[in-house]
Amino acid sequence: MKSIKELYKIGNGPSSSHTMGPKKAVLIFQEKYPDANFFKIILYGSLAYTGKGHLTDKIIIQALAPKKVEVIFNREEKELNHPNTMDLVAYKNEEEIGKMRVYSIGGGSIQIEGEQIVEEKDIYSHTTFQEISNECKKRNISLLQYIYEQEGKDIMIYLQEVWNTMKKGIEQGLQEEGIIPGRLQIERKAKKLFHTISDNETKEFRQTRLLTAYAYATSERNASGEIIVTAPTCGASGILPAVLYYLITEEKIDEEKIIEGIAVAGLIGNLVKENASISGAECGCQAEVGTACSMAAAAYAYIKRFSIDAIECAAEIAMEHHLGLTCDPIYGYVQIPCIERNAVAAIRAIDAANMASLLYQGRKISFDLVVETMYETGKDLGSHYKETSEGGLAKKYCKNDYYNDDLEE
Ligand code: SF4
Repeated sequence: MKSIKELYKIGNGPSSSHTMGPKKAVLIFQEKYPDANFFKIILYGSLAYTGKGHLTDKIIIQALAPKKVEVIFNREEKELNHPNTMDLVAYKNEEEIGKMRVYSIGGGSIQIEGEQIVEEKDIYSHTTFQEISNECKKRNISLLQYIYEQEGKDIMIYLQEVWNTMKKGIEQGLQEEGIIPGRLQIERKAKKLFHTISDNETKEFRQTRLLTAYAYATSERNASGEIIVTAPTCGASGILPAVLYYLITEEKIDEEKIIEGIAVAGLIGNLVKENASISGAECGCQAEVGTACSMAAAAYAYIKRFSIDAIECAAEIAMEHHLGLTCDPIYGYVQIPCIERNAVAAIRAIDAANMASLLYQGRKISFDLVVETMYETGKDLGSHYKETSEGGLAKKYCKNDYYNDDLEE
């Protein structure tokens, strides 16, 4: 298992697999072929189906500028090793000088076909929650102490930057107005949600409203291509920050504890990435929003000083009740159902953690088991429910006009 740093990436939305991953791929490719004066980039699978709405072509052209680029959306090819596949071809004076096939495997990470994974090395000694929990109990250490041992204490410097970015994103998102870019013409709602709280609202309703406003603030920025932190992906980036921002502002939790919560949440996300997938194109939204909800529930449980068993139970409940959740973004934009779904999951994360405090003793389902189940469920989901916009809400809403690339965005 790699460092938590690999999970929390700071960069532009709206999609870690459709913008961050492809951007990284073309930059590596350009470095390999500095003499190229023209690039052809062919997108397959989910990248071809929803790349337009996810701004994949724009980010590729931007990254390779000022070189000439042609981006092709190949929706015919079905025999793919990975649902997010891209071919990169370099030309010099019309002659092909190099080619590379890349898989965008989720959370902004990529794998180059035929090459060992170029990313960071595995640094963790254990790869399941059960193993980690056993280790912590045997040596009487906390999950946080375990993370320090594996990562080094310096990880907290990076996590401070992660938190600063999350916090700044919410605070800016609560000030912004206007329409989110794209054909859906959705109005930003975070500011209105936040600034219209009345004194008569009950504590429960205030919590719902604030979590919704905070999740919208980040998710609306993500949908607009602004800077966010993958937690664990761009599409699900609003959930963990919303819960943490609620804790720091309403419950006056100190910042150090919040950053420790980010570390514990990162461990949960890392376990899902290691043993299943955090990619909507590979396993549906259960892998993105389900994982993010698990992470947020674990962070909340840690901050509330739950035991290791209760933290595990919080993460498990949060994931279990997202099983089967499909990915069906309308017109391929990370807007509907994504933005609202982030708010729902932020609320659920706190509910899952509170339920865990009541139910963790004698539970039958472990976190590892639910992660395994999520992966198997994801593999069984039809491709039309995995970030292709061919099924679900996307299909019903779009009435077959989605693949008209000439329609104005
Ligand atoms: S539906 Fe879920 S997985 Fe799909 S793009 Fe939206 S947030 Fe990501």
